Amino acid sequence: MEKCLFCSIAAHEIPAEIQFENGEVVAFLDIRPKAPVHILIIPKKHIRSVADLTDEDCHLVLKLILTAKKLAEEKGIAEKGYRLVFNVGREGGQIVPHLHLHLLGGRNLAD
Ligand code: AMP
Ligand code: ZN
Repeated sequence: MEKCLFCSIAAHEIPAEIQFENGEVVAFLDIRPKAPVHILIIPKKHIRSVADLTDEDCHLVLKLILTAKKLAEEKGIAEKGYRLVFNVGREGGQIVPHLHLHLLGGRNLAD
């Protein structure tokens, strides 16, 4: 069976511009950035999407959010503000079936 793209990035089998990594989480630059700062934060554990989360994943999801917060501070966008997005499923715009949190910022994202 072919390995999931983001599992392969987490395993360092496919190159990515990794911004942060620890035992649970990896963060890397989005290959097609939609804002000056566009980072994807993923769990190393393969979870397909928010739709597959369970109570057991509470800690992990908070780690994704806190990693995004830390990276926003490091990238200098925390003060002006940023957007965190989970796309879920086909109509939600999710293309890669491995849970990922988009961190977007560095421009005005408000309508
Ligand atoms: P989504 O539409 O929520 O599934 O987002 C998937 C994101 O992954 C898109 O913003 C893509 O640009 C990004 N992406 C796809 N392949 C790669 C890759 N190899 N490295 C980094 N980002 C990627
Ligand atoms: Zn995966």
